[in-house]
Amino acid sequence: MPLTLSFDTTYLSLPDRFYSRQPADPVSAPQLIVFNHALAADLGLDTSGMSDEEAASIFSGNDIPDGADPFAQVYAGHQFGGFSAQLGDGRALHLGEVSGPTGRYDIQLKGSGPTPYSRNGDGRAWVGPVLREYLMSCAMDALDIPTTKALAAVTTGDKILREQGLLPGAIVTRVAASHIRVGTFQYFAARADVEALQKLTDYVIARHYPDAKDPLELFEMVMQRHATLVAKWMAVGFIHGVMNTDNVQIAGETIDYGPCAFMDTYHPDTVFSSIDRQGRYAYSNQGPITHWNLAQFATALVAIMPDTDKAIADFTAILNRFPALYDAEWAKAFAPKLGLAHSDDATALAKDLLAQMANIPMDFTNTFADLDRATAQFLPDWHAKWCALGPDDDMWRQTNPLVIPRTHKIEDVITAATGGDYAPFHAMLAAISAPFEMSPDFMLPPDDDQKVLQTFCGT
Ligand code: AMP
Ligand code: MG
Ligand code: MG
Repeated sequence: MPLTLSFDTTYLSLPDRFYSRQPADPVSAPQLIVFNHALAADLGLDTSGMSDEEAASIFSGNDIPDGADPFAQVYAGHQFGGFSAQLGDGRALHLGEVSGPTGRYDIQLKGSGPTPYSRNGDGRAWVGPVLREYLMSCAMDALDIPTTKALAAVTTGDKILREQGLLPGAIVTRVAASHIRVGTFQYFAARADVEALQKLTDYVIARHYPDAKDPLELFEMVMQRHATLVAKWMAVGFIHGVMNTDNVQIAGETIDYGPCAFMDTYHPDTVFSSIDRQGRYAYSNQGPITHWNLAQFATALVAIMPDTDKAIADFTAILNRFPALYDAEWAKAFAPKLGLAHSDDATALAKDLLAQMANIPMDFTNTFADLDRATAQFLPDWHAKWCALGPDDDMWRQTNPLVIPRTHKIEDVITAATGGDYAPFHAMLAAISAPFEMSPDFMLPPDDDQKVLQTFCGT
């Protein structure tokens, strides 16, 4: 039996100016790299009779399933602080929405060809970023961090040109609670299109925040989700790398795995992205920049409020609570990493640990995973203070992952895949999908000559 996808795409009930309907651009010889059967089950898809050929043809865009009405979404966004009034899905195409046992999701092909929003890009992706997104999003999901997910990855059979030369083309199928971003609101706010902003707000409340009574409550709920999300990133040493407002998803999932990386050696100023020259999106700046991004969201929402002065005062009052909210979420995320209940002592101890780790230097993941021995050996005074608080060993062991998708391992996977060997990808996928189990091949930090100092958007 072929795969049936029952689309029920509510986004298309919004006005035409929210998107462009767009057919997928066919590829020459799609081949399936990987398919996420567990995710398919969550989406309510019956894939039992689906062949690899069928999956490759659907998830490359060559075979558009019945009921799909593909489209690209428009949005805007602050990129590294500068406002771009028009961005959009430049290399992505929504097949539509499905409603399954765990909720409603967008299904989107990424790397599927040019759209009206491609600007100078070719609308394509090569196998490197596709596999990176697949691994990163699976790792985040396994770590219980809200994220967009990967349903499938295919190679296209076409070569695409990048700085490094001709590379194998690929497409990742991304599943998200939705793809609405702060930048979607900014697109309409920049045009003073109050009608569209109102429709978008109503839509987002109905789809994601049904308990919100008004835009202020919506804003507060979005702020809460992002405070929690970013605190969770911090607790695993994740650096997003490109926290532009078009990459801040309203439903509160991690989105856009471009130049992201998990830190190896801990340092608060760590930056990987080659284009983040000022350290705007450095590890320790992810909380403050979230505050800044939320201020842009509030600014966009002001336009639909009846009394502008009052709205500014009300949004500002909520926004001013962000630093304390974020600190509290950070403390809640770090206390169990020490095997402690959330308390001022636990927070102070966590901060003290990080301050000392930054001086040594020490591997972030492995220090926490082996907290007792690592601190007894390198930080005996800290270790004594910690023991005095009576940590619960099971708690910190169950909280601190052993396996994260380390950048140098991802690079090895990509190098092999570029030469046609996907075995390292599958081995890494298995390891990062079980982050609390030993996978010795994936647990060591890089040697000096394996260290990846910069990451690239590398589309
Ligand atoms: P990002 O930095 O991934 O958030 O992308 C920023 C903008 O560039 C988005 O509007 C993307 O759709 C667009 N973009 C990125 N790569 C490509 C590409 N290869 N072709 C067309 N548009 C792209
Ligand atoms: Mg993006
Ligand atoms: Mg990107």
